[in-house]
Amino acid sequence: MSQAPVTRFAPSPSGHLHVGGARTALFCWAYAKGRGGKFILRIEDTDQKRSSGAASVGFLKDLAWLGIDWDEGPEHAGHGGGTHGPYFQSERLDLYNRILGELVEAGKAYYAFDTAEELEARRAEAKAAGRAYRYDGSSQMALPKDEVERRLAAGMPAVIRLKCPPQPITIKDEILGEATLPAGEVDDFVLRKADGFPTYHFAVVVDDELMGVTHVLRAQEHFNNTTKHMLLQDALGYRRPTYGHFSIITNPDGSKMSKRDKDKLLRKTVVERALAAPPAGTVAQARWDAWLSDKNTQLDFEEANALADALGIQLPEINVDDFRRSGYLPEVICNFLSLNGWSPGGDVEKFDMQFMKERFDLKRVVKTPAKFDRAKLLNFNCDAITGMPREEFVGRARAHGREFHPQFMAKLTDAQFELLAGASHERSKTLDELFRVNRFLVTADDALAWERTKNVEKVMAGAEPNGVTHVRALASVFEGVSDWQPAALEAAIGAYAASATEGNLGKVAQPLRVAVSGGTVSPPIFDTLAILGKASTLERMRRCLQAFGG
Ligand code: GLU
Repeated sequence: MSQAPVTRFAPSPSGHLHVGGARTALFCWAYAKGRGGKFILRIEDTDQKRSSGAASVGFLKDLAWLGIDWDEGPEHAGHGGGTHGPYFQSERLDLYNRILGELVEAGKAYYAFDTAEELEARRAEAKAAGRAYRYDGSSQMALPKDEVERRLAAGMPAVIRLKCPPQPITIKDEILGEATLPAGEVDDFVLRKADGFPTYHFAVVVDDELMGVTHVLRAQEHFNNTTKHMLLQDALGYRRPTYGHFSIITNPDGSKMSKRDKDKLLRKTVVERALAAPPAGTVAQARWDAWLSDKNTQLDFEEANALADALGIQLPEINVDDFRRSGYLPEVICNFLSLNGWSPGGDVEKFDMQFMKERFDLKRVVKTPAKFDRAKLLNFNCDAITGMPREEFVGRARAHGREFHPQFMAKLTDAQFELLAGASHERSKTLDELFRVNRFLVTADDALAWERTKNVEKVMAGAEPNGVTHVRALASVFEGVSDWQPAALEAAIGAYAASATEGNLGKVAQPLRVAVSGGTVSPPIFDTLAILGKASTLERMRRCLQAFGG
């Protein structure tokens, strides 16, 4: 009987979890969990310049939110633990050093003292002679042992390199197929850097072996690294795991999905609107100037979000956390992501994690890049939201609001929020939408301003009786409404419409909507008025009449 698979997701925490990484994690998870195996999470934080503790925690949070639970790995919110830790590579240095020592002792790896200048000179020399550069370690390997020790004791910077035997190497990849690299193509690569930290190549091979990983499933960018890993496995006497490399996820135009996409949209909007100064409370003036004068500078996460908010635009989501903020459901993200590069067949598109792990198979993973279709994702999300029970939507929207719109939430009572969420349920594509389109609800009455668009003018002005007429008349009707609830409001407005507009409710509802919201979009009007309350409604109507000269 073959052993249950052990897979791992091994992110380098240099930022937020990218959707591409999330899909790799999802596929690794599904492969193992659907076969009674184990899924390990390991944090590859040996690149001191690029790693950060906060980013690691962000990764854990993102994975947990998606419902990708790891059997072993860093502990977080009930996930993780395990006997193969620590799961942060930066905490495994002693182990790496011990194994490196053994490798050097066995003559399979060696210290190299070449300086950066020497290496550069040799590279330049090869280039000038029209030769491909290959590292030549013969002078370093020839150093007598006591000389090596003397140099190390003197604190001379040194790396450790693997002696790579000149032999062809064949990679068997479950997704991409077989490829053979001719002999002599792999240089004696570095296993430990001069700063004492292992390279990615060394740590990944050691950890996959020691953690019992049977299937290395990862992004295609690592395909070429595999030959190095195989040579190292041979030198260490390790097993060969099964390999599979996933193609990348791109924008529909084939470009890389990167956080630059956000920056590009912000710049474009700022230029189009000819904004000379940053909107208040978004980006400091000095940062703004530096940003606009240099295309390579990017705003940080908070700045970009604040600016997008002030500009009223939505940035393209790239990282898992972006999608969460935008109000996508984790189960929809997982479903949709899995279709980027895989399909269960039989035209099935909507499914849950249980189905996913039962059906996921490397044979149906495609080799070509997957194009990320945002419109389709939004449709999936909309279907999931409108298909869920009302109470569930209210609960999830409330949790989203508490996290991302605390000021909005603070201005509404529970009952008001319930009314709003209930009224928004059927028209919501995301959990975030109701907060964005209903800002007028939490605007102070005396700060509400009216859009003077053609649509608004059409609703309010024109031959009498016009919008202004109806708002004025309804203001007195409302004075007499004591039970300020949707049903009583519907009765009062219905009675007014019956006499004033031959029962045409739209003719009355739209001016009312403009009066209390400032624009032409709101939840159903009776709910909107009930949420606002009587005092606010009347005050807004009064100010509206003033604004429109009524
Ligand atoms: N740490 C690597 C990365 O984030 C992945 C390594 C691997 O899966 O082998 O790209």
